[in-house]
Amino acid sequence: MKILSVTSEMYPLVKTGGLADVAGALPLALNKLGVEMRTVLPGYDPVLQHVTDAQPVLTIPSLFGEEATVLDAVVDGRRIYVVECPGFFRRAGGPYADISGQEWPDNWLRFAALSKAAAMIAEGAIKDWVPDVVHAHDWQAAMTLAYLRHGQSPTMPTVITIHNLAFQGRFGFDIFDKLELPPQAWNVDGVEYYGGVGYLKAGLVYADAITTVSPTYADEIREHHNGMGLDGLLNGRSERLNGILNGIDNDQWDPSTDPHIKKTYTHNSIGQKQTNKRDLAARMGLDKDDSPILVVISRLTWQKGMDLLAEVVDDIVRSGMRLAVLGTGDRMLEGAFLYASDRHRGRVGVRIGYDEAFAHALLAGGDGILIPSRFEPCGLTQLYGLRYGCVPVVSRVGGLADTVVDANEAAIAAGAATGFQFSPPDTYHLRKVIDRFSKIYAKPPQFKAIQRAGMKTDNAWSNSASRYIALYENLIEAQSQCSQTMPSAPASKKVESRSKSGLQPS
Ligand code: ADP
Repeated sequence: MKILSVTSEMYPLVKTGGLADVAGALPLALNKLGVEMRTVLPGYDPVLQHVTDAQPVLTIPSLFGEEATVLDAVVDGRRIYVVECPGFFRRAGGPYADISGQEWPDNWLRFAALSKAAAMIAEGAIKDWVPDVVHAHDWQAAMTLAYLRHGQSPTMPTVITIHNLAFQGRFGFDIFDKLELPPQAWNVDGVEYYGGVGYLKAGLVYADAITTVSPTYADEIREHHNGMGLDGLLNGRSERLNGILNGIDNDQWDPSTDPHIKKTYTHNSIGQKQTNKRDLAARMGLDKDDSPILVVISRLTWQKGMDLLAEVVDDIVRSGMRLAVLGTGDRMLEGAFLYASDRHRGRVGVRIGYDEAFAHALLAGGDGILIPSRFEPCGLTQLYGLRYGCVPVVSRVGGLADTVVDANEAAIAAGAATGFQFSPPDTYHLRKVIDRFSKIYAKPPQFKAIQRAGMKTDNAWSNSASRYIALYENLIEAQSQCSQTMPSAPASKKVESRSKSGLQPS
């Protein structure tokens, strides 16, 4: 089976969050199970610097007016197609914004370009390789499905994965004319979304299957207050919506071999975490004592509940614990944490920035990782926390609810507890859960049992990869049955037959 994945970021080449981890780990996991996934990625500077031996396999003389070349490369076992298009992708800054954090004003065009190039590849523009299924991730890749449905391969089976419904790629109606789509795409069952163009919305309409990254989030986004305007559409297509939990790359996140940590360890040698804890305290300017260290590795945003955490920092300090924060994001929140580290020298350490290697050191040295998200599609840091014996303290939402077993009395007695949950995400319940953490930390046998149970939890990609494979197989099967019964169905009919979107009128 051949799958074409389309994504705007992929570990180890370019990463701003969990999407990159997933896009980087899934091809490896599928490969182990005999499925070939190739990935289309924009040619940002760091990507091009990494793939110096890439071969050009396709020239696109005009991709929305820019010349583009598709490069074929292999990165640590992952086959990728890099869309090299300097006019769109070679810029100083990140994938979505300039160095000051300002989003690129032509993001609508940049990611339409990525999608259009991906659709060309899916249609067979590269010799000798045509995928069986196209799998697009998030709004940046979603328009691939629009170009396919209105292009030469309208029946190609497609999947879209929602990694975060909060990011939808919504633009004004005036861009439609420039997207090189046929007029019939301007439709409530096409790209039109409340009078503008909705990239994610279009992907959700055109996809044969919709997945999101945890079962609980798949339910939550169908509720009006969590659906962010798309609950009507998602309910209308609920039979095509699946929640498949993200896994983690067990080789990359392994405390027994991790090159980024002071002392490696396993669940049988959790005591070795002490060395990492001392190292972390020193690097974060924290006092040298035996008190617990709570860590944060996060975007500093409202979604992640970082404003709630900023409000309870004083309580954490008062209860005798230390706090180590690694994050970047909202300037106000960055300021709030820096101010807290000033007020509580030795008790609160803050590093503003993005530092992949240091994230490993925090997990190895931390006793608990705080994730008070207001919503969380899956969340990866709690899974890394489990693997490193850095006990997750999480709000009971989305994938956090699905992956952490709360240390209530029954779970502790059964040896099943792996962390702490609280609900709803507010400061009152956050204070209470931190208090609960502190009390159980004070009972080492109980706390170690929770750490061990977490470290033994299997969150490897293999389980989830098998579910994606089953999904791809079903789509291929359905498509072959469909083409047997309707061998000459015209493309426009096909689009109409998919049009029961359930979208609420704008
Ligand atoms: P999201 O994608 O919503 O930001 P996830 O928990 O799914 O959240 O994934 C976040 C990923 O980004 C994890 O791999 C986490 O370790 C990493 N990460 C987040 N912030 C930082 C940071 N400041 N430095 C290093 N890694 C970070």
